[in-house]
Amino acid sequence: MIIMSEYILGKENKIDIKSLNFDELTAFIKEIGEPAFRAKQLYDWMHVKRARNYDEMKNIPKSLKEKLEQKCSYTCLEVVQVQESQIDGTKKFLFGLYDGNVIESVFMKYKFGNSVCVSSQVGCRMGCWFCASTIDGVVRNLLPSEILDQIYAIACYTGEKISRVVVMGSGEPLDNYDNLLKFIELLSDEHGMNLGQRNLTVSTCGIVPKILELAEKKLSINLALSLHASNNDKRKELMPIANKYEIHEVLNACKTYFDKTGRQLTFEYSLVAGVNDSDEDAAELSKLLSGLNCVVNLIPVNPIKERDFKPTDRSHAVKFKDKLEKNRINATIRREMGRDIDGACGQLRRRYVGEKK
Ligand code: SAH
Repeated sequence: MIIMSEYILGKENKIDIKSLNFDELTAFIKEIGEPAFRAKQLYDWMHVKRARNYDEMKNIPKSLKEKLEQKCSYTCLEVVQVQESQIDGTKKFLFGLYDGNVIESVFMKYKFGNSVCVSSQVGCRMGCWFCASTIDGVVRNLLPSEILDQIYAIACYTGEKISRVVVMGSGEPLDNYDNLLKFIELLSDEHGMNLGQRNLTVSTCGIVPKILELAEKKLSINLALSLHASNNDKRKELMPIANKYEIHEVLNACKTYFDKTGRQLTFEYSLVAGVNDSDEDAAELSKLLSGLNCVVNLIPVNPIKERDFKPTDRSHAVKFKDKLEKNRINATIRREMGRDIDGACGQLRRRYVGEKK
């Protein structure tokens, strides 16, 4: 017999059917006395046709739908709000979850294709100083299906093809490790969305044991590390996680990730005026990263109303980038997408939840 607790549970403590991988769904379907081909049909309804409920699943018999109603939960995200940038067409979505929580996701149009940025938790407990997502801590982990549904819902709303996914919304993905892995499996499954793992990037504040565990999986996903400082003392001021894992330890874990997977590393570095953007910072950063196969993504920090800091201005950011490149460190300045629509991670949700209160 299948023990329910082996599976991820969602609404009403029932099996979250959209979080089952193909093999699990097949085993489950057999277990409830149905032929295996039903699993393929169901998987297709959920992950290819993206039905919003059992009723839409035309070729599934009523008797099976009733069994599923009893044993499983099937939820979809609800679009609560959409903001569209007048500058660059970025769309920011606020989605409602089955339990009344809300999360944010972002749709971005680039020359080389469309990207979606997904959240991995409701809130975050990592406490980074410049981040709006973490101000009220973490509420709960997202289910694999809820991470995935952000992509499905955006594809449905925009009618656009999505060719890249980044886990860079609210939450720390490696703090929700098991569900993240399941999400990756579902996203890249050939029976489902079939997104190549090379088109997926997971961003972390640097939870060393989990980076190493992920490296052992030898997936082909890209790893981005939120670095934001060139030495440990400065990093501690910006990111509490630096008190737990020292900067060299984090970089060594990233290096292991590269050695095991061959995927190029990205280091995210939010430029905060007068805090981490001096010539000395650029020199120290160059030294720190020298010899690593990596690219530094410089992001002028997005202001948030709860904190008093300013982004580095554009011309100074270019100088910082030039300095890195002179020292043979690859660097890019990320286009600031959707600044006119609460662009920074977690701002839209905070405002919405605040207004409701
Ligand atoms: N927890 C993960 C992923 C979510 S945050 C991580 O730390 O990487 C995604 C990225 O946005 C991180 O690099 C984070 O440091 C950055 N970020 C958060 N708030 C920001 C802000 N106000 N301006 C610029 N970058 C920000």
